[in-house]
Amino acid sequence: MRSIKVAAAEVITDKMTFHSDYCEKHTYTRGSEDVVKPVRMMVMNGKVICPRCELEEESKKLQKDLESQIEYSQRQKKFNTLEKRSMFRDRTVSRATFDNYDVSEPEETKNKNRMMDLVKHLQQGEVFNIFLQGHPGVGKSHLAYAALRELNVPPDPDNPKDNGRSCLFINMEDAATAIKDSFSNKDSKYTEAYVTQLMGEADYLVIDDIGAETGSEHSDSKASDFIHRLIYKVTSARQDKVTIYTTNLTSEKLYQMYDSKLVSRITQKQQYIIFKDTSDKRKEALPF
Ligand SMILES: [Zn+2]
Repeated sequence: MRSIKVAAAEVITDKMTFHSDYCEKHTYTRGSEDVVKPVRMMVMNGKVICPRCELEEESKKLQKDLESQIEYSQRQKKFNTLEKRSMFRDRTVSRATFDNYDVSEPEETKNKNRMMDLVKHLQQGEVFNIFLQGHPGVGKSHLAYAALRELNVPPDPDNPKDNGRSCLFINMEDAATAIKDSFSNKDSKYTEAYVTQLMGEADYLVIDDIGAETGSEHSDSKASDFIHRLIYKVTSARQDKVTIYTTNLTSEKLYQMYDSKLVSRITQKQQYIIFKDTSDKRKEALPF
């Protein structure tokens, strides 16, 4: 232990020696006057430096680094929306990418390529909506999440004006359940106002499994008033933004569940991706 300390001290004395010059930049206050306090310069690794100036420079640099880190983490808020604010219970969806979308049938290949192509257009700034329709288990949510992942790009650290884009994945049934719970649970943050605002503000929004929230897929009933109100508000706020819908419902079912005005809202500026032939992947995984 002792020999190491001695060695270190020798290195320092070897590299740092006092110089005969003084730095005159530093002052202290005496009464109402600033008085220069000369600081003895040093020779460090062959360079003449003022230790006070070096320290001040270093602390300025640290301060600046810290400020830019805080500023950047503020700018990342939008980027973090997808991970922090999305609402869905099926956590397998959060691992979905285009790469791990399993294609075994021609329709899947076609639809995956079409989705990837549409994402490229969105990345170039085009604004339209995407409607993925087909029976359960064909991977509509997977493709929708994979699209968001591509669109969710962090802000450029070197461009202070770039705040990035926000993406959000909302499963309609899970969101509806959370809002309904907030009616009686005063501590819940998932109020109708909160969820509506969240869904209205996202730059890219997936509304997953629209229609399932009514619980009436296999009956003739209509969506409740609050669901109508929610979708109206969200679509009003999103007229110039991109929304991706997934649904098991046929157009006939959509018109049965929602007001026709609402259906025309949902189906505005749509690009359709339809699954007709693909089999249910979740069923295939079971041996019986
Ligand atoms: Zn100095």
